[in-house]
Amino acid sequence: MAQDYYNMLGVERSASVDEIKKAYRKIAMQHHPDKNPGNKASEDKFKAATEAYDVLSNPEKRSRYDQFGKDGLKGNGRSDFYEGDLSDLFQNSPFGSFFGGRGRDRQQPNYGEDLRIKLKLNLQEIAQGAEKKVKVKRYTSCTSCRGNGSEGGNAIEKCGLCKGHGSIRKMAQTLLGNMFTETTCSNCSGTGKQIKTPCRSCHGQGRELIEDLITFQIPKGVRKGMELTLRDKGNVPPRGGISGNLIIQIDEEEDDLLKREGNNICYTLHISFIDATLGCEMEVPTIYGKVRLKISPGTRSGKVLKLIGKGIPTVDGYGTKGDQLVFVQIWTPQELTKEEKELLLSLRHSSNFIPKPNKKEESFFERIKSFFQG
Ligand SMILES: [Zn+2]
Ligand SMILES: [Zn+2]
Repeated sequence: MAQDYYNMLGVERSASVDEIKKAYRKIAMQHHPDKNPGNKASEDKFKAATEAYDVLSNPEKRSRYDQFGKDGLKGNGRSDFYEGDLSDLFQNSPFGSFFGGRGRDRQQPNYGEDLRIKLKLNLQEIAQGAEKKVKVKRYTSCTSCRGNGSEGGNAIEKCGLCKGHGSIRKMAQTLLGNMFTETTCSNCSGTGKQIKTPCRSCHGQGRELIEDLITFQIPKGVRKGMELTLRDKGNVPPRGGISGNLIIQIDEEEDDLLKREGNNICYTLHISFIDATLGCEMEVPTIYGKVRLKISPGTRSGKVLKLIGKGIPTVDGYGTKGDQLVFVQIWTPQELTKEEKELLLSLRHSSNFIPKPNKKEESFFERIKSFFQG
C-alpha cells in the first residue's frame, strides 16, 4: 500500500482527529466487506483505510508518520518507540455501534433481486382495468428449511472459526505494540453463521426457484412505459431477508382501428358520398363496444364527431375520461359499372353537385384544431 495515508482517507495533512474519524467512517461504511462480499477492490480499500486510520488517529503514530513516513512506523532500528498497547480500534472507535456487537446484530439486511416483466395490454384492458395473471420464475423461501438453509429448519449455529464475528482479527507484534488486522472469515464468508447440515432440498441456500402464478390488478388508464411495482414479488435473498419486487412494465398493443392520442381515441369512419349527402346511421366501434352514430344529411368530408366519454379514463382515478373522435371520410369509388357511371353523369352538371364553399364556415384544419383543444 504505497499510498499516502492522508490521501487514502482524503483529508488534509492538518486534519483534526474528528475529521480523520469522519473520513474513515465514510470509507469504512462504503467498503466494509460485509457490504461488498467478494469485491476485492472494496476489500483492499477498506484495509488500506483501516491501516491509515490506525496510524492517523493515534497522535504518537501520526507524528512519527509525519516525520518519517511509513519507515518511521516500521521502526528501522529506533528504540524510543511508542510501546503502549494500541487501543482496540473498533471497540473504542466512534462507530462502535457499526462494528461493535459483532455477529448477528451487525448484519446488514439481505435484499433480494427485483424482477421485471413486460406486459402488453390492449385498449379495452387499459380503459377498463384488468385482472392479470403472470407466470414468473422467482426464488421463494425454501419450504423444507423455512428459509434458513439448515436441514429441517434447525437453528443455525455460530461460525466455529470466527465465533460469530464474521471476521478474523489477527494480532501482530510490532514495535508500536500490537497491531490488529481484520479479514473476512473464510469459513462463513462474513456471515458469522455456520450451517451444520445444509438443507438437502435447497443445498443450504434457503431459497428455491419456483414458477409462481401471480395475480394482480391493472388500474384504468395506464399507458406504455408506466411501471407497476408488486411489493415482495421478486426474489427472496439467500437464507432470508427482504424480498425484491416484481416490476411490471406496461406496453400497449396496437389496435387496427382505434388509435390512442393521450386519453382520446381516434377513429376514421369511411362513408359513401350518398350516405353523407342523404344522412344515415352508422355503427362505430369503440373500446366499450359498438355504438350507433347518426350522420346528418349534408355531412362534409373531414367532419369530426365526438363520442363523449368513449376515451380512456385518467390514471389518477378521478373519473375523468377522454373522448372518441370520429373523423368522417367520404369514400370515393374506385370502379364503376356502366349503369353507375351513367347515373353519375346525369348528375354531373346538376347545380347542387357543384362545389360552393361557404367562406363563413371554418376550414377543415381549424375544426380539427378546435377538437383537440376543446
Ligand atoms: Zn432449504
Ligand atoms: Zn466465520
